[in-house]
Amino acid sequence: MIPYNTFCTNCKTLKHRVELACSACKRNSSDVKILPVTKTHPLEAIEYSAEFGFDAVGENKVQEAVAKIQQAQIQKSKALSVNCELIGHLQTNKAKKAVEYFARIQSVDSIKLLEKIDAEAKKLDKKQRILLQINAGRDPAKFGAEIEEAPALLERALQLNNLTVEGLMTIAPLDENLDSARRCFANLREIRDMLSEKFAISLSELSMGMSHDLEIAIEEGSTMIRVGTFLFGERHYL
Ligand SMILES: *Cc1c(COP(=O)(O)O)cnc(C)c1O
Repeated sequence: MIPYNTFCTNCKTLKHRVELACSACKRNSSDVKILPVTKTHPLEAIEYSAEFGFDAVGENKVQEAVAKIQQAQIQKSKALSVNCELIGHLQTNKAKKAVEYFARIQSVDSIKLLEKIDAEAKKLDKKQRILLQINAGRDPAKFGAEIEEAPALLERALQLNNLTVEGLMTIAPLDENLDSARRCFANLREIRDMLSEKFAISLSELSMGMSHDLEIAIEEGSTMIRVGTFLFGERHYL
């Protein structure tokens, strides 16, 4: 694990990248949130994030996140002061744990999963915040609902009482050429605008952009970039 000082330097450099990207497209940098992605890193990564002042972190596996949160509970760690957001694929059989531990689930991509999350949230008397993950880059290697499925997915989500849909999420295709990332991000924004008009709701969160493509995501309207490697270094599989 990198020392806290290095993490702070990385945070400042990242904020500078965000500011440059925002000023290039005349956006306000306070409209782009940074979600530190702590997956594969130990509990300290969440503690660093809390210490620096972030209010949420991203984890991509339910089990890994739950293990860290439980460790934090035992140690009464300051990591408990940040929310955890699920950014990785969720299987329906883990929906119960996900609802229990995550403030927001960004990776909701099927009607079956929507219904399961809603049912589990109801049991806990919770309104679960979610994003709909759309495979806006039409990448066969990525999870996410197909673009054409998005309206039906949102329509169902809006019928369920224990869900709050706050926006959309996507992961760009892995490609040296950032043109496909740009197209993916622009697609997500267009899908959001279309859905927002059709269903008369705001869907204000556009979670898109990672360490290597965040400037492009910001140009295309991202409101949340999910950043792991740039902040914490290479992934360490626990
Ligand atoms: C790991 C991960 C990230 C962070 O990626 P980096 O390239 O390490 O910044 C962002 N989003 C999702 C869904 C991830 O799984």
